[in-house]
Amino acid sequence: MSASVSRRSFLGLAGGTAALLGLAACGGNNNADSDDANAASDDASGKSYIVATDTTFAPFEFTDENGDFVGIDVDLLAAVAADQGFKYELNSLGFEAAVAALESNQADAVIAGMSITAEREEKYDFTDSYYQSSVCMAVKSGSDIKGLEDLKGKTVAGKNATQSLSWAESIKDEYGFEITYFDSSDMMYQDVQTGNSVACFEDTPVMEYGVAQGNGLEIVAKEEDEFASPYAVGVMKGKNAELVEMFNAGLANIKESGEYDEILAKYLG
Ligand code: GLN
Repeated sequence: MSASVSRRSFLGLAGGTAALLGLAACGGNNNADSDDANAASDDASGKSYIVATDTTFAPFEFTDENGDFVGIDVDLLAAVAADQGFKYELNSLGFEAAVAALESNQADAVIAGMSITAEREEKYDFTDSYYQSSVCMAVKSGSDIKGLEDLKGKTVAGKNATQSLSWAESIKDEYGFEITYFDSSDMMYQDVQTGNSVACFEDTPVMEYGVAQGNGLEIVAKEEDEFASPYAVGVMKGKNAELVEMFNAGLANIKESGEYDEILAKYLG
């Protein structure tokens, strides 16, 4: 329950961060480019979906060196929307904030490396999955912490409302560690880099990408069973069913055409 107190205090921070990052995310908002917009205006509904996403969750969404908002999720959504002829606006809010936007009707959907979980399936409808993930623990490269057994009496970093945090919370008493809560993956990594936290919990493909990019961390434990999960787009239960259908149809088409593989290869090599 102490977690909910930390969460609330970090939400204030998230608002400020989201406002700042809103500027950076403008590139993302332009993804429904004029061609798509024209195509969609022929559409009877003319509806533009608001899709909420995370801020920094590379390679799924992040700002590249040119200041463009890019990533697997960003490209997949653009490709599916082009294939199906729907318009959207992508809002980069942070993971917990994206889910909150969905729940408060400020977003129609979330695409943010969002895991399908049994608990979430009670509240949300998910599209077909587009990526299989698991969770892991990472430490500063060269750290004395070699695994979960070394966490006794230590503080680790976790990211609010995520599957990796659920794993950390499920084992924190067993291994005797405390959790500091963050709203973004980059703030969590920084806390490990500066040594405030000895480890952080994250989705494996995201941490593997970060390590390969030289974030100075290394993975020392993985959970590939109970907390492994497929990524999909989420909408509120019973709402935006047509968006789910279009996403599924578009995803099938871009898998068929090879575009899906190209997008993955572009970021994962
Ligand atoms: N896959 C994780 C989850 O859904 C984390 C998502 C994220 O941090 N963007 O909980």
